[in-house]
Amino acid sequence: MSDRMGTVHSGIEAFVIRRFPLGENDRIILFFTSGHGKLRAVAKNAMKPGRKMSGLLEPFNLLEIDLFEKAGSDLYRLNSVELASRPRRFTSDLGRLSAGFEVLGILEKFVPDQEVDPSLFDLTKQTLLALDREDAHPEFVLKTFQFRFFQLAGYGLNLCECNQCRKPRGNRSGYMDVQSGGVMCSVCRSRIARECAVVSAGTLKIIDGLFSFQDMSIPEETAMKRFIHESEPVVLGMFAWHFGAVPSSKKLINPHAD
Ligand SMILES: [Zn+2]
Repeated sequence: MSDRMGTVHSGIEAFVIRRFPLGENDRIILFFTSGHGKLRAVAKNAMKPGRKMSGLLEPFNLLEIDLFEKAGSDLYRLNSVELASRPRRFTSDLGRLSAGFEVLGILEKFVPDQEVDPSLFDLTKQTLLALDREDAHPEFVLKTFQFRFFQLAGYGLNLCECNQCRKPRGNRSGYMDVQSGGVMCSVCRSRIARECAVVSAGTLKIIDGLFSFQDMSIPEETAMKRFIHESEPVVLGMFAWHFGAVPSSKKLINPHAD
């Protein structure tokens, strides 16, 4: 529905990224939505006792919201909220919580407002669902999100051949160089005056699978440990190189509480 005062948008899938105080009872909610990207909306009287809304506007709840878009303003008004689904295992597990908050933090910090990307919304939804699964490995779920986030942003890595001389890597380890966008052989690496960490063939295979959105089985324990250890500097390097900053460090308390 649209008139000269504004437009009503109904039934939008959304997650709460963060809530900001606005007076005693109102809140500004930073949402990540399916059809409108990241946006801010005023929730009038959201915190008034007895309002259903306040209990629903929590991070990780999948919501269906109605918004009013006022002509000439990029601040929406939240008309109504329905709960589509609520995670069951988040509140009692710090590992899942901190991974989940890191996902929201990445959306807040690195995704421009109102940039519409249904694939990124879908990735976020799948990631939060995966974190809620009984057998979830939170760090692996988070890494999966991060590498796919890079891929959707257009920052893949060339892992199958040396970035410089194009020699196929085969089943060998490689020197990771995020600045040139992939791995190097030892000969080319020795010519470049940059720190490049060696990444094992097993970890490169996992990263490659994550980039290409393959359905990944969870690696066995040793491979997982190596993957987590070796991929962390790659992830941080990619955030720093492509986005100019790294995600806020994981916190054990809720950094989004208001
Ligand atoms: Zn080379």
